[in-house]
Amino acid sequence: MKGRVFSGARPTGRQHIGNYLGAIQNYVKLQQDYECIYCAVDIHALTTLEGTENLKENIREMMLDWLAAGLDPEKSILFVQSHVPQVMELHTLLSMVTPLGWLTRVATFKEKARMQPHNINYGLVGYPVLMTADIVLYKADTVPVGQDQLPHLELAREIARRFNYTFGDTFPEPQALLSDFPAVIGLDGVNKMSKSLDNHIELAATPEETGERIMTAFTDPARKYRSDPGHPEICNVWRLHHFYNPNQVENIAAECRGALRGCVECKEQLAQGINAALAPFRQRRAELAARPQYVEEVLADGARRAHGIATETIREVKERMGLI
Ligand code: SF4
Repeated sequence: MKGRVFSGARPTGRQHIGNYLGAIQNYVKLQQDYECIYCAVDIHALTTLEGTENLKENIREMMLDWLAAGLDPEKSILFVQSHVPQVMELHTLLSMVTPLGWLTRVATFKEKARMQPHNINYGLVGYPVLMTADIVLYKADTVPVGQDQLPHLELAREIARRFNYTFGDTFPEPQALLSDFPAVIGLDGVNKMSKSLDNHIELAATPEETGERIMTAFTDPARKYRSDPGHPEICNVWRLHHFYNPNQVENIAAECRGALRGCVECKEQLAQGINAALAPFRQRRAELAARPQYVEEVLADGARRAHGIATETIREVKERMGLI
Protein backbone atom coordinates (compact mmCIF):
# COMPACT_ATOMS: atom_id res chain seq x y z
CA MET A 1 0.00 0.00 0.00
CA LYS A 2 1.22 3.51 -0.80
CA GLY A 3 2.21 5.74 2.09
CA ARG A 4 0.29 8.95 2.60
CA VAL A 5 1.99 12.34 2.45
CA PHE A 6 0.57 15.51 3.97
CA SER A 7 1.97 18.98 3.52
CA GLY A 8 0.49 22.40 4.05
CA ALA A 9 1.65 25.84 2.96
CA ARG A 10 0.50 29.26 4.02
CA PRO A 11 -1.42 30.93 1.21
CA THR A 12 1.10 33.64 0.43
CA GLY A 13 -0.19 34.29 -3.08
CA ARG A 14 2.04 33.93 -6.10
CA GLN A 15 4.89 31.54 -5.42
CA HIS A 16 8.55 32.34 -6.00
CA ILE A 17 11.46 30.31 -7.24
CA GLY A 18 12.51 29.59 -3.64
CA ASN A 19 9.10 27.99 -3.03
CA TYR A 20 9.48 25.96 -6.21
CA LEU A 21 13.04 24.73 -5.67
CA GLY A 22 12.54 24.13 -1.94
CA ALA A 23 9.09 22.52 -1.89
CA ILE A 24 6.83 22.48 -4.96
CA GLN A 25 9.10 20.42 -7.20
CA ASN A 26 9.34 17.87 -4.40
CA TYR A 27 5.52 17.86 -4.03
CA VAL A 28 5.27 17.04 -7.73
CA LYS A 29 7.80 14.21 -7.49
CA LEU A 30 6.15 12.63 -4.44
CA GLN A 31 2.94 12.12 -6.41
CA GLN A 32 4.60 9.15 -8.14
CA ASP A 33 5.16 7.12 -4.98
CA TYR A 34 2.67 8.38 -2.42
CA GLU A 35 -0.95 9.26 -1.96
CA CYS A 36 -0.51 13.00 -1.50
CA ILE A 37 -2.62 15.55 0.33
CA TYR A 38 -1.62 19.19 -0.14
CA CYS A 39 -3.33 22.00 1.64
CA ALA A 40 -3.44 25.80 1.74
CA VAL A 41 -3.39 26.40 5.49
CA ASP A 42 -5.54 29.50 5.74
CA ILE A 43 -6.27 29.12 9.47
CA HIS A 44 -2.56 29.08 10.24
CA ALA A 45 -2.22 32.27 8.22
CA LEU A 46 -4.64 34.00 10.63
CA THR A 47 -2.16 33.71 13.49
CA THR A 48 0.12 36.32 11.98
CA LEU A 49 -1.95 38.15 9.37
CA GLU A 50 -2.88 41.72 10.09
CA GLY A 51 -5.68 41.65 7.49
CA THR A 52 -7.59 38.91 5.69
CA GLU A 53 -8.85 40.78 2.63
CA ASN A 54 -6.39 39.05 0.25
CA LEU A 55 -6.70 35.55 1.67
CA LYS A 56 -8.99 34.10 -1.01
CA GLU A 57 -7.05 35.67 -3.84
CA ASN A 58 -3.78 34.45 -2.33
CA ILE A 59 -5.14 30.89 -2.20
CA ARG A 60 -6.19 31.06 -5.85
CA GLU A 61 -2.81 32.42 -6.97
CA MET A 62 -0.90 29.81 -5.00
CA MET A 63 -3.05 26.99 -6.36
CA LEU A 64 -2.58 28.21 -9.93
CA ASP A 65 1.17 28.00 -9.38
CA TRP A 66 0.94 24.53 -7.83
CA LEU A 67 -1.23 23.23 -10.64
CA ALA A 68 0.87 24.79 -13.39
CA ALA A 69 4.00 23.33 -11.78
CA GLY A 70 2.58 19.83 -12.09
CA LEU A 71 0.42 19.02 -9.09
CA ASP A 72 -2.25 16.79 -10.53
CA PRO A 73 -5.71 16.91 -8.90
CA GLU A 74 -6.39 13.43 -10.32
CA LYS A 75 -3.49 12.06 -8.27
CA SER A 76 -3.38 14.38 -5.24
CA ILE A 77 -5.94 15.94 -2.96
CA LEU A 78 -5.60 19.73 -3.13
CA PHE A 79 -7.77 21.71 -0.76
CA VAL A 80 -8.09 24.61 1.66
CA GLN A 81 -7.65 23.85 5.36
CA SER A 82 -10.77 25.69 6.57
CA HIS A 83 -12.97 23.93 4.00
CA VAL A 84 -12.66 20.77 6.08
CA PRO A 85 -13.69 22.11 9.50
CA GLN A 86 -13.08 18.81 11.31
CA VAL A 87 -9.47 19.95 11.62
CA MET A 88 -10.57 22.56 14.15
CA GLU A 89 -12.53 19.96 16.09
CA LEU A 90 -9.49 17.70 16.22
CA HIS A 91 -7.33 20.66 17.23
CA THR A 92 -9.52 21.14 20.30
CA LEU A 93 -9.49 17.45 21.18
CA LEU A 94 -5.71 17.15 20.78
CA SER A 95 -5.22 20.25 22.91
CA MET A 96 -6.48 18.20 25.88
CA VAL A 97 -3.46 15.90 25.70
CA THR A 98 -0.89 18.62 24.99
CA PRO A 99 0.91 20.13 28.01
CA LEU A 100 1.14 23.90 27.75
CA GLY A 101 4.87 23.76 28.49
CA TRP A 102 5.46 21.86 25.24
CA LEU A 103 3.99 24.78 23.30
CA THR A 104 5.49 27.76 25.08
CA ARG A 105 9.02 26.37 24.71
CA VAL A 106 8.73 26.15 20.90
CA ALA A 107 11.40 28.40 19.39
CA THR A 108 9.15 29.77 16.63
CA PHE A 109 6.51 30.75 19.19
CA LYS A 110 9.10 32.75 21.12
CA GLU A 111 10.30 34.35 17.88
CA LYS A 112 6.78 35.24 16.68
CA ALA A 113 5.92 36.63 20.12
CA ARG A 114 9.00 38.84 19.85
CA MET A 115 8.08 39.95 16.33
CA GLN A 116 4.44 40.78 17.07
CA PRO A 117 4.31 41.68 20.79
CA HIS A 118 1.01 43.52 20.17
CA ASN A 119 -0.65 40.30 18.96
CA ILE A 120 0.43 37.25 20.98
CA ASN A 121 -2.81 35.41 20.40
CA TYR A 122 -3.90 31.98 21.60
CA GLY A 123 -3.67 30.68 18.03
CA LEU A 124 0.03 31.42 18.01
CA VAL A 125 0.58 29.20 21.07
CA GLY A 126 -1.69 26.46 19.74
CA TYR A 127 -0.14 26.49 16.27
CA PRO A 128 1.74 23.17 16.70
CA VAL A 129 -1.47 21.47 17.89
CA LEU A 130 -3.32 22.64 14.79
CA MET A 131 -0.38 21.50 12.68
CA THR A 132 -0.57 18.07 14.33
CA ALA A 133 -4.32 17.98 13.65
CA ASP A 134 -3.63 18.79 9.98
CA ILE A 135 -1.39 15.76 9.67
CA VAL A 136 -3.10 13.14 11.80
CA LEU A 137 -6.65 13.99 10.68
CA TYR A 138 -5.67 12.40 7.37
CA LYS A 139 -3.56 9.69 9.05
CA ALA A 140 -0.59 10.81 7.00
CA ASP A 141 2.53 8.77 7.77
CA THR A 142 4.98 10.95 5.86
CA VAL A 143 5.63 14.68 6.00
CA PRO A 144 8.16 16.35 3.67
CA VAL A 145 10.13 18.86 5.73
CA GLY A 146 13.27 20.93 5.68
CA GLN A 147 15.83 20.60 8.45
CA ASP A 148 14.45 23.74 10.15
CA GLN A 149 10.98 22.19 10.49
CA LEU A 150 12.14 19.00 12.19
CA PRO A 151 11.43 20.25 15.75
CA HIS A 152 7.80 20.97 14.74
CA LEU A 153 7.36 17.52 13.36
CA GLU A 154 8.90 15.99 16.47
CA LEU A 155 6.31 17.85 18.54
CA ALA A 156 3.52 16.51 16.29
CA ARG A 157 4.88 13.01 16.83
CA GLU A 158 4.91 13.56 20.62
CA ILE A 159 1.30 14.75 20.60
CA ALA A 160 0.18 11.79 18.46
CA ARG A 161 2.13 9.41 20.71
CA ARG A 162 0.55 10.87 23.83
CA PHE A 163 -2.94 10.56 22.36
CA ASN A 164 -2.26 6.94 21.39
CA TYR A 165 -0.87 6.19 24.87
CA THR A 166 -3.89 7.77 26.58
CA PHE A 167 -6.72 6.53 24.37
CA GLY A 168 -5.29 3.62 22.40
CA ASP A 169 -3.59 3.36 19.03
CA THR A 170 -5.31 5.78 16.68
CA PHE A 171 -2.74 7.76 14.72
CA PRO A 172 0.40 6.76 12.88
CA GLU A 173 3.41 8.72 14.15
CA PRO A 174 4.26 10.83 11.11
CA GLN A 175 7.79 10.39 9.78
CA ALA A 176 9.87 13.21 8.35
CA LEU A 177 10.89 12.98 4.73
CA LEU A 178 13.89 15.28 4.71
CA SER A 179 14.27 17.41 1.64
CA ASP A 180 17.93 17.68 0.66
CA PHE A 181 17.40 21.03 -1.03
CA PRO A 182 19.13 23.95 0.69
CA ALA A 183 17.18 27.09 1.39
CA VAL A 184 17.27 29.36 -1.65
CA ILE A 185 18.80 32.73 -0.78
CA GLY A 186 16.97 35.83 -2.00
CA LEU A 187 18.11 38.76 -4.11
CA ASP A 188 19.50 40.54 -1.04
CA GLY A 189 22.14 37.80 -0.97
CA VAL A 190 21.67 37.21 2.77
CA ASN A 191 18.20 36.00 3.72
CA LYS A 192 16.12 33.04 2.60
CA MET A 193 14.06 34.02 -0.44
CA SER A 194 10.80 35.38 0.89
CA LYS A 195 7.91 37.45 -0.36
CA SER A 196 7.71 39.35 2.92
CA LEU A 197 11.34 40.45 2.53
CA ASP A 198 10.71 41.41 -1.11
CA ASN A 199 13.86 39.58 -2.19
CA HIS A 200 12.07 37.09 -4.43
CA ILE A 201 11.39 36.28 -8.08
CA GLU A 202 7.83 35.16 -8.78
CA LEU A 203 7.38 32.08 -10.93
CA ALA A 204 4.61 33.83 -12.81
CA ALA A 205 6.49 37.07 -13.44
CA THR A 206 6.93 38.12 -17.06
CA PRO A 207 10.38 37.72 -18.63
CA GLU A 208 10.82 41.50 -18.42
CA GLU A 209 9.86 41.61 -14.74
CA THR A 210 12.23 38.72 -14.05
CA GLY A 211 15.10 40.57 -15.73
CA GLU A 212 14.35 43.75 -13.79
CA ARG A 213 14.21 41.90 -10.47
CA ILE A 214 17.52 40.14 -11.09
CA MET A 215 19.21 43.44 -11.91
CA THR A 216 18.53 44.47 -8.28
CA ALA A 217 20.41 41.43 -6.90
CA PHE A 218 23.38 42.00 -4.62
CA THR A 219 26.62 40.54 -5.95
CA ASP A 220 30.21 40.51 -4.73
CA PRO A 221 30.74 43.94 -3.05
CA ALA A 222 34.46 43.79 -3.99
CA ARG A 223 33.51 44.28 -7.65
CA LYS A 224 33.21 48.04 -8.00
CA TYR A 225 34.53 47.99 -11.57
CA ARG A 226 34.42 45.37 -14.27
CA SER A 227 38.20 45.01 -13.97
CA ASP A 228 37.95 43.94 -10.30
CA PRO A 229 38.41 40.18 -9.83
CA GLY A 230 35.27 38.66 -8.26
CA HIS A 231 34.51 35.98 -5.69
CA PRO A 232 31.61 33.94 -7.09
CA GLU A 233 31.42 31.76 -3.99
CA ILE A 234 29.98 34.68 -2.01
CA CYS A 235 27.68 35.85 -4.82
CA ASN A 236 24.07 34.70 -4.83
CA VAL A 237 23.72 35.31 -8.58
CA TRP A 238 26.29 32.57 -9.05
CA ARG A 239 24.41 30.29 -6.63
CA LEU A 240 21.24 30.83 -8.68
CA HIS A 241 23.15 29.94 -11.86
CA HIS A 242 23.55 26.45 -10.32
CA PHE A 243 19.80 25.91 -10.68
CA TYR A 244 19.22 27.58 -14.03
CA ASN A 245 22.54 27.31 -15.91
CA PRO A 246 24.09 24.25 -14.24
CA ASN A 247 26.44 23.43 -17.11
CA GLN A 248 28.00 26.86 -17.09
CA VAL A 249 28.77 27.50 -13.43
CA GLU A 250 32.47 26.61 -13.66
CA ASN A 251 32.96 28.81 -16.68
CA ILE A 252 31.07 31.69 -15.04
CA ALA A 253 33.17 31.34 -11.88
CA ALA A 254 36.42 31.38 -13.85
CA GLU A 255 35.37 34.45 -15.85
CA CYS A 256 34.25 36.21 -12.66
CA ARG A 257 37.54 35.51 -10.87
CA GLY A 258 39.49 36.66 -13.89
CA ALA A 259 37.40 39.85 -14.30
CA LEU A 260 36.40 38.61 -17.74
CA ARG A 261 32.68 39.19 -17.26
CA GLY A 262 30.62 41.99 -15.81
CA CYS A 263 27.85 41.54 -13.26
CA VAL A 264 25.26 43.02 -15.63
CA GLU A 265 25.88 40.42 -18.33
CA CYS A 266 26.06 37.73 -15.66
CA LYS A 267 22.62 38.76 -14.43
CA GLU A 268 21.26 38.91 -17.97
CA GLN A 269 22.43 35.35 -18.51
CA LEU A 270 20.72 34.27 -15.28
CA ALA A 271 17.48 35.96 -16.34
CA GLN A 272 17.64 34.12 -19.68
CA GLY A 273 18.15 30.81 -17.90
CA ILE A 274 15.24 31.40 -15.52
CA ASN A 275 12.93 32.61 -18.28
CA ALA A 276 13.76 29.63 -20.50
CA ALA A 277 13.18 27.16 -17.64
CA LEU A 278 9.88 28.77 -16.63
CA ALA A 279 8.41 29.37 -20.11
CA PRO A 280 6.35 26.11 -20.19
CA PHE A 281 5.16 26.73 -16.62
CA ARG A 282 4.09 30.27 -17.46
CA GLN A 283 2.19 29.19 -20.54
CA ARG A 284 0.36 26.45 -18.63
CA ARG A 285 -0.45 28.85 -15.83
CA ALA A 286 -2.00 31.34 -18.24
CA GLU A 287 -4.12 28.56 -19.77
CA LEU A 288 -5.36 27.42 -16.36
CA ALA A 289 -6.06 30.98 -15.22
CA ALA A 290 -8.22 31.48 -18.34
CA ARG A 291 -10.45 28.52 -17.44
CA PRO A 292 -13.36 29.94 -15.45
CA GLN A 293 -13.92 28.26 -12.09
CA TYR A 294 -11.13 25.71 -12.66
CA VAL A 295 -9.29 26.36 -9.38
CA GLU A 296 -12.58 26.52 -7.46
CA GLU A 297 -13.63 23.14 -8.91
CA VAL A 298 -10.29 21.55 -8.02
CA LEU A 299 -10.54 22.85 -4.45
CA ALA A 300 -14.17 21.78 -4.05
CA ASP A 301 -13.34 18.25 -5.21
CA GLY A 302 -10.27 18.17 -2.94
CA ALA A 303 -12.34 19.32 0.06
CA ARG A 304 -14.95 16.64 -0.66
CA ARG A 305 -12.29 13.89 -0.73
CA ALA A 306 -10.47 15.24 2.35
CA HIS A 307 -13.82 15.53 4.14
CA GLY A 308 -14.44 11.80 3.65
CA ILE A 309 -11.17 10.85 5.38
CA ALA A 310 -11.62 13.48 8.10
CA THR A 311 -15.13 12.34 9.02
CA GLU A 312 -13.93 8.78 9.53
CA THR A 313 -10.99 9.89 11.72
CA ILE A 314 -13.09 12.19 13.89
CA ARG A 315 -15.61 9.41 14.49
CA GLU A 316 -12.80 7.09 15.60
CA VAL A 317 -11.22 9.77 17.83
CA LYS A 318 -14.53 10.52 19.54
CA GLU A 319 -15.17 6.85 20.15
CA ARG A 320 -11.71 6.44 21.66
CA MET A 321 -12.26 9.45 23.91
CA GLY A 322 -15.67 8.21 25.04
CA LEU A 323 -17.56 11.06 23.43
CA ILE A 324 -19.77 8.79 21.32
FE1 SF4 B 1 28.41 37.46 -9.20
FE2 SF4 B 1 28.47 37.06 -11.78
FE3 SF4 B 1 29.21 39.44 -10.77
FE4 SF4 B 1 30.76 37.31 -10.44
S1 SF4 B 1 30.25 38.30 -12.39
S2 SF4 B 1 30.16 38.79 -8.85
S3 SF4 B 1 29.23 35.67 -10.24
S4 SF4 B 1 27.17 38.52 -10.71
